[in-house]
Amino acid sequence: MSLFSPVEMAPRDPILGLNEAFNADPRAEKVNLGVGVYYDENGKVPLLRAVQAAEEARVAEHAPRTYLPMEGLAPYDQAVQKLLLGADSPLLSSGRLVTAQSIGGTGALKLGADFLYRLAGKRLVAISDPSWENHRSLFETAGYEVVTYPYYDPATHGLNLQGMLQGIEALPEGSVVVLHACCHNPTGVDLSIEQWKQVIEVVRKRNHVPFLDIAYQGFGDNLEDDAAAVRLFAEADLSFVISSSFSKSFSLYGERVGALTLVTGTAEEGERVLSQLKRVIRTNYSNPPTHGAKVVAAVLNNPELYAMWEQELAEMRIRIKQMRKALANRLRAAGVEQDVSFIEKQRGMFSYSGLSREQVDRLAQEFAIYAVGSGRICVAALNNRNIDTVADAIARVML
Ligand code: PMP
Repeated sequence: MSLFSPVEMAPRDPILGLNEAFNADPRAEKVNLGVGVYYDENGKVPLLRAVQAAEEARVAEHAPRTYLPMEGLAPYDQAVQKLLLGADSPLLSSGRLVTAQSIGGTGALKLGADFLYRLAGKRLVAISDPSWENHRSLFETAGYEVVTYPYYDPATHGLNLQGMLQGIEALPEGSVVVLHACCHNPTGVDLSIEQWKQVIEVVRKRNHVPFLDIAYQGFGDNLEDDAAAVRLFAEADLSFVISSSFSKSFSLYGERVGALTLVTGTAEEGERVLSQLKRVIRTNYSNPPTHGAKVVAAVLNNPELYAMWEQELAEMRIRIKQMRKALANRLRAAGVEQDVSFIEKQRGMFSYSGLSREQVDRLAQEFAIYAVGSGRICVAALNNRNIDTVADAIARVML
């Protein structure tokens, strides 16, 4: 008998399974709205001009490929802090910020989860209902019990603020609470500044550990406003954890560029935290990869490239907003009588369309349009060529 013969087949990843079904579909007009990736008007994943310029400069350098420090490239880590907390944050020079470059946003979440489990004795984490599907399994794999707090209200397609506040309040004191800082995945429903302040008060009162996940900075309003939640937590003078990602904002998915930032209480505490975080990294993967971080740092630390990137990020954001509007308008024109204005209000790449599992199945079977079973659709996969087909099909299954 082989060592591996008792190994059971793992359940299929719902989104990757969807991609397989999409790829196998022979129909020419097929559309994949299940992805979590930004496509441009031509249906392509863009290579940003700012990235291209930074890459060309890097290749021309022909630099030796040494190891990076365990916590990653220093100019990258510093640029991340600036982007998250704001260029004028007193925290930047306080020594209280600890940042480690990570293997994407997912790697940041896992590092943060491991750190809090091993070094702060945390065992319970609460995620929003619903949340990015990997949050639960990632924290479970790290040893946590995972519970949810109310978030989305299907009746209004908006936030269930009271439920959220009560749910967070009811958690055992000192729980880890994962919060989507902007462009909530999968619902596209975000909190206002006032609502964040209420959450912060409950978190403070219950001595919880806020774990802010920010994977779409720049896809909501702009880079600064999308970091409002992070900055409010900083102003509230709480210790907290941030996982961030450049996968989407730099269109650098496969380069795995993310960061874990810990906002500690004092500079001395920061030193101890960094020393322990380095051990977590050392015993996992030793040190992070170079290319993506070099490229991102080159863009963030060069005013011209930064301006170019900001412009390209704005183009992505504006295109998504146009597609939201176009989808809502076409649904109305196709005779859908339900209020679909929520599609325009939701933020980021996704819309929680309100489509049921059966409607999603019909879309795939009858129209070769693939969406996640929860009804989440990626608005960034829409373009002027497929929007009519998609809107007509959605209207048909809604009517
Ligand atoms: N958090 C959220 C909320 C996400 O949507 C994603 C990406 N889909 C991540 C984290 C992970 O980001 P990355 O792809 O950089 O690992």
